[in-house]
Amino acid sequence: MLTKLAGATIYDPVQGLNGEIKDLYILDGRLIPAPGGDEHIDQEYNLHGKVVMAGAVDLHTHIGGGKVNVARAMLARDAQIDDVEPGAPVDVGIGVAVPSTLTAGYRYAEMGYTTCFEPAVIPVNARQSHMEMADTPIVDTGGYTTLGNDDFLLKLLSEETPQSVINDYVAWTLRATQCIGVKIINAGGINAFKFNVRKLNVDEQTPHYGVRPRDIIRTLSRAITELQVPFPVHVHASNLGVAGNVESTLATIDAAEGHRIHLTHVQFHSYGTEGKRKFSSAADRIAEAVNQSNNVTVDVGQVMFGQTVTLSADTMQQYKQRTHAHPNKWICMDIECESGCGVLPFHYRDGNFINALQWAIGLEIFLLVDDPWRVCLTTDHPNGAPFTTYPHLVRLLMDKSYRADMLATIHPDAAKMSHLRDLTREYSLNDIAIMTRAAPARLLGLKDKGHLGVGAAADITVYQPHDDQERMFAKPALVFKDGELVVKDGRVIKAPRGRTQVVRPEYDVSIEQRLKTWFDNCHTVAMRNYQISDDEMAEGIGTPVVAHPCKTAS
Ligand SMILES: [Zn+2]
Repeated sequence: MLTKLAGATIYDPVQGLNGEIKDLYILDGRLIPAPGGDEHIDQEYNLHGKVVMAGAVDLHTHIGGGKVNVARAMLARDAQIDDVEPGAPVDVGIGVAVPSTLTAGYRYAEMGYTTCFEPAVIPVNARQSHMEMADTPIVDTGGYTTLGNDDFLLKLLSEETPQSVINDYVAWTLRATQCIGVKIINAGGINAFKFNVRKLNVDEQTPHYGVRPRDIIRTLSRAITELQVPFPVHVHASNLGVAGNVESTLATIDAAEGHRIHLTHVQFHSYGTEGKRKFSSAADRIAEAVNQSNNVTVDVGQVMFGQTVTLSADTMQQYKQRTHAHPNKWICMDIECESGCGVLPFHYRDGNFINALQWAIGLEIFLLVDDPWRVCLTTDHPNGAPFTTYPHLVRLLMDKSYRADMLATIHPDAAKMSHLRDLTREYSLNDIAIMTRAAPARLLGLKDKGHLGVGAAADITVYQPHDDQERMFAKPALVFKDGELVVKDGRVIKAPRGRTQVVRPEYDVSIEQRLKTWFDNCHTVAMRNYQISDDEMAEGIGTPVVAHPCKTAS
């Protein structure tokens, strides 16, 4: 069926279209060139006066896996049916901070998001993560496999194993877990926590293996480069949430030794120790480092006020934060040979000095990083806030007077310490299109997403312009997924299944012999059960894979 979207005002930074009026044509789920005059148009939408962008891409959102399920179980109130908006059909499911899989898919599509990535797929739990993402309708999904605290890698590093063998292990893990990228969470720190270490800086050694976080970051960022995986190593730096952690974050950038590195939820890693409370913003130092290092990209992990839940593999930091849980309950657990899991509910309050400053620090980073291609919009859902707060965040970035009004309502000492009042930058629609679709798609190597060029997937979001950007971005007029109309006037009308985005770097299969011995001796899972095949993804789990080429764009 040939569909025409007529007269759209297009924001497509990849093609350099900044508010230009154009027609778009869709055939078989893809964008095609304008057909010849005698071609029959089956369906036409008049989009005069509407703003059109590619479907948005969230590169960091916790929507599938063990810790999300633990959080769902812990937040009984979050799951109450009365959280559903009055009049909404009950079949949209439940939950806000940790919505059900069904609800997550609906809420993302309603906001014009068509692709989402779970950033912490613990390899041994990859099957569970993919099953939950397969059960999340409409959006395409993908995951980052977590390495850097796994005993196998730390053992290889402690034995000074050649880089090529480590590359084989990284490539094997990406394939076995059907992921698109590699995530490092508090390099070495989760492993060290198992040996009763409660703090690990970038240049300290882990107790059992004698490996430094710096070695882990360097080796894995180099592996990603040499394997030509498009997505840079995705790093949750050391000392998350700790006053003064700006030093660890800068040391982490340094540890990559010029290899591409993406610092995730960098807001939580941009703290100084100034002021009477010994907690201050170091956003300016982080932004300066990003502005000066072309190999570095970030997403912010913006904090928004309200009830949420924090969930992380970083047991070291989650254990430290346990006394701040609200409601007062928490859980930390070990994940055999690989990682950890810590979950605690949290309520960010604008009247709390620390929370208020965290909110300001996130906004400072957005406004101080010069290049919107290198800063992606996230709240580290649900750690900083649920993803449903994105439209509000967009307004804070686009409207400086609204931002000033909000700044006036937070804890006065935090407002006083923040540079926010001096930052007059306002994001344009083009900037928003970059940071919410074009930049994440390019970073991930998704050549057919994040833009509206010929050949792209027809994932398209149509907005009704409004002076209040929060209203505009909360409920798009139309959303197309692979050319199918899935949302109309902010309501889901169709819920197709998405597909899983993966990469397939090459490796020497001799690594499997070594791994087989490791699995037989140390794991409770057999190696053959650990690996997920394409057939299982398509038929058992229900989300077929789409493999993106491993060739780093120069
Ligand atoms: Zn996260």
